[in-house]
Amino acid sequence: MFDKILIANRGEIACRVIETARAMGVRTVAVFSEADAGARHVAMADEAVPIGPPPPSESYLKGDLLIEVALRTGAQAIHPGYGFLSENPDFVAAVAAAGLAFIGPSADAIRAMGLKDAAKTLMEEAGVPVVPGYHGAEQDDALLAEKAGEIGYPVLIKAVAGGGGKGMRQVEAPGEFAQALASARSEAATAFGNSDVLVEKFIVKPRHIEVQVFGDGARAVHLFERDCSLQRRHQKVIEEAPAPGMTEEMRAAMGQAAVRAAEAIGYSGAGTVEFIVDASEGLRPDRFWFMEMNTRLQVEHPVTEAITGVDLVEWQLRVASGESLPMGQHELLITGHAFEARLYAEDVPKGFLPATGTLEHLAFPGDVRADTGVRSGDTISPFYDPMIAKLVVHGPTRAIALARLRQALARCEVAGTVTNLTFLGALARHPGFSAGDVDTGLIARDIDALVAEPVPQPVHWAQAALVITGLWPAQDAATGFTLWQPLARGVLLCHRGDEQRLTIRAMGPDRHEIETGDGTRVVARRQAGQWVLDGRPAAAFAEAAGAVTVFDAYGLRFERVDLLERAAGADGDGNVIEAPMPGMVRSMSAAPGQRVAAGDRLAVLEAMKMEHALVAARDGVVEEVLVAEGTQVEAGAALIRLAAEDAPAA
Ligand code: ADP
Ligand code: ADP
Ligand code: MG
Repeated sequence: MFDKILIANRGEIACRVIETARAMGVRTVAVFSEADAGARHVAMADEAVPIGPPPPSESYLKGDLLIEVALRTGAQAIHPGYGFLSENPDFVAAVAAAGLAFIGPSADAIRAMGLKDAAKTLMEEAGVPVVPGYHGAEQDDALLAEKAGEIGYPVLIKAVAGGGGKGMRQVEAPGEFAQALASARSEAATAFGNSDVLVEKFIVKPRHIEVQVFGDGARAVHLFERDCSLQRRHQKVIEEAPAPGMTEEMRAAMGQAAVRAAEAIGYSGAGTVEFIVDASEGLRPDRFWFMEMNTRLQVEHPVTEAITGVDLVEWQLRVASGESLPMGQHELLITGHAFEARLYAEDVPKGFLPATGTLEHLAFPGDVRADTGVRSGDTISPFYDPMIAKLVVHGPTRAIALARLRQALARCEVAGTVTNLTFLGALARHPGFSAGDVDTGLIARDIDALVAEPVPQPVHWAQAALVITGLWPAQDAATGFTLWQPLARGVLLCHRGDEQRLTIRAMGPDRHEIETGDGTRVVARRQAGQWVLDGRPAAAFAEAAGAVTVFDAYGLRFERVDLLERAAGADGDGNVIEAPMPGMVRSMSAAPGQRVAAGDRLAVLEAMKMEHALVAARDGVVEEVLVAEGTQVEAGAALIRLAAEDAPAA
């Protein structure tokens, strides 16, 4: 076994590899870009070496530098993780040439599977069923169109060098072929520097079922299948093992085909053979076809670990250090069912836009496997994949495992960035998915229902208001308000653009009444040290400058709206200063004809037991004072009017 290995990756997969290495007594060297100096994988490793600026091309993709660091630190092997250099045969060859071990397959095996067209031809020769289609070298547009016609529409155009769903186009009819081909080619050229494509039959009601394989260069075994049909734009969202509805007959056929594929290229290490399955008439052994092989550890490997009890990273290290396969096919068994959900920092209502942010708070349920590369206080930067964690649950049956997934998602606490938690929660409750009736079109069909955001309830607004005004937990009598006399305080909160003005009446250290924007009253009481809102135990929460996240309904974030900022900028034309809230005009220092400068204090409003200065939003001349000192005014009442500005010069 190695004494020390270098991990040429970052984030959760780097942490994952370090955990197993540590358990095996193998020392680890982490590498990090400038953006990752304080990252979790750096803190976890025995040593960490800086490798350059944040862009991957200047750090994590610098193969020569990584090899140099491995040699310098005395590492004997390099684990590539997934993504980055993991499927780069030139890197693998360079690692070997430097006298280091690559924890993964040979450069030749990666090359054999690197291009989808060549891989398909190879697999056909090895007797593995391949999707009907054209994957020849001839790339003439007219020929491809003719082949598409022969295959029969709908067809799928794929970049031969593709990955991550890029360079892929579904074509419904001959008239759309030329345009789809052009756009697939240009996307492929940009992403992979290779515009060659293949054309294949688009499978109706497709399911993505892949088989985990493991080889030692001579023999290979499979560790059963994973169903990755829950996809959004060809990207996996929730994966599970085993596949729902899988029969022993079909599992045996797929397992054998996958092992044949691996042995055909003398595969060593962990790999995945991806199949597309036509599920229009259930799972049938003659309805699966090879799509591609991923010659690396896969993101969703934990579901396989959960049902087999095998630590795939341990196997990777053992096989790469020269051991033969740790187990034979007959020793491998499936126990129960597992799910993995990919938790991302992304803005789902904005079209799944990748998000960034500093995690003010991050906590996962203690009884769930959460593979993560970040902690509370860490930042999701724009440079890398915005994955926060993978949540992995296991149970004796699919129904129990799925119930655990729902519970795990509901108990995740993330504050400081938007996430896809609500979306994952909706998926986990989707009736079709719950019934195991999955296909790759499920998410797209029901997207509107799946992306609906929860609406906060009055108790959530009330709890946020108490926290943000410092009344949670109740302050002592000494800190400012009298207990025997109800005091009212106001606060303006905003949740995803929805504003509510709340009034809190403190009735004592153990009781508050909160009136929400729509007039609903919520009673907060402290009972045996626990806060209860309208009879319901209060949710956990996290507070950060001017914001509070209540951990219910997958996390509801409320921000305090600054009333003074609002006062200054409220009016559309900037001519009128309005009362930002109901209150009494305590003082008025403006007088008609007075010249004022932006920021000058013109009046003081007493509202909700506090004084608020009202300032001029711009330079100008007071035209009219509309209220006198001592007047009680409503929110929005016009108090002072400035003379209209001259029309800007044309
Ligand atoms: P898996 O099948 O293991 O779930 P994914 O498609 O999710 O694989 O990709 C795994 C990782 O590799 C992701 O971080 C993704 O960004 C990266 N990746 C996959 N294919 C490519 C590619 N062609 N180019 C760049 N990165 C890729
Ligand atoms: P990538 O390299 O981007 O992962 P794949 O060839 O693995 O590309 O395909 C990604 C996804 O595209 C599959 O999981 C499946 O959802 C869909 N897909 C691929 N081939 C077909 C097909 N022939 N028919 C229907 N859907 C397909
Ligand atoms: Mg794929």
